[in-house]
Amino acid sequence: MSHLQARTVGFKRGERNVFFHILTACNLSCSHCYINPKEHGTGKLSREKLEEWLTLFRCENKDTNIIFLGGEPTMHPDLDHAIRYAKKLGYSSVTVDSNGFLFHDFLDKVKPADLDFLSFSLDGPSPEVNDSIRGAGVFKTCTTNLQAAVAKGFNVSLIYTVSRHNIAYLHKMVPLLAGWGVKRFFIQVIGIRGKTAINGADKWQLTPEEWLEKIPQVAAEAAAHGIRTIFPKVFLEPEEKFECAGRVAENYFIFPNGRVYQCPLCEDYPVHGYRIEENKLIANSGFTETKLFGLDIPEGCVINKLLQPENLSYGPQGKPLYKISCCLLKQEMKPR
Ligand code: SF4
Ligand code: SF4
Repeated sequence: MSHLQARTVGFKRGERNVFFHILTACNLSCSHCYINPKEHGTGKLSREKLEEWLTLFRCENKDTNIIFLGGEPTMHPDLDHAIRYAKKLGYSSVTVDSNGFLFHDFLDKVKPADLDFLSFSLDGPSPEVNDSIRGAGVFKTCTTNLQAAVAKGFNVSLIYTVSRHNIAYLHKMVPLLAGWGVKRFFIQVIGIRGKTAINGADKWQLTPEEWLEKIPQVAAEAAAHGIRTIFPKVFLEPEEKFECAGRVAENYFIFPNGRVYQCPLCEDYPVHGYRIEENKLIANSGFTETKLFGLDIPEGCVINKLLQPENLSYGPQGKPLYKISCCLLKQEMKPR
């Protein structure tokens, strides 16, 4: 049993994170996919638009991290160009989140020095578990390419989205990750967005007890194996301070139709705080997510209360038993 302690990673004032969905198309059809073509469009940004929007979100005075996402970002033929362009513009770190298929000869076109992290999404330690969520044959392709990336010298991380379907197998990931040479492990909580919102949240979602019993323990085991492990805070004790990233941090979730959200929970709705128009970032008027960030409620995150009230529990006096933290607040366990 490890005695490593989780540290909450507070929002860093002045740090900016840009989550750049460069297309929404994907070769897979995962049963928990949050991409919502009705809201996010079906487009793919041109090479010129990639350059323009990367330039738009760069900030000379602040550290800005960029994460390329999709759909499946490696399906974009100009991803390698966009990665190098982002580096040239001075982004502090450049990451790609892939489902592991690595199209367009990704590992040959991009050098390890071009990229700070190449992240693979895998939701189970075996084909039986992973492929029941992500599709037949995905485990084999993803893990083969992950190991090829490590062998080429890329810094590799792995994202495991925990739900009721796969929480029982999470601990089995630790020896696999250590053996593959994965450096960072992101344990993500299932979001009730996109397909999970349609397919019945109760089939996916975990209780606080299930989350707290399993996640910190597996994170500590992974850290003890030398893997930096990051997982969302999710539940705050009543005395813990609540902060909304929309108020105190700068996060931009950009979609190819020009929508820019600051809160990922809002992505199923046309309440984005900003839009990109004629290569300018414009604040939207009317009812937007931004109006909700300033509301203080005893339950913590106001958008969680509006969209996912089943996450909340109340005592006999009607007081919330715990607060829901900002979904962007993370905890981390680092190897000693
Ligand atoms: S790999 Fe990602 S974008 Fe593609 S279907 Fe799965 S969750 Fe959706
Ligand atoms: S998840 Fe909640 S707390 Fe975090 S940015 Fe969105 S509204 Fe704010």
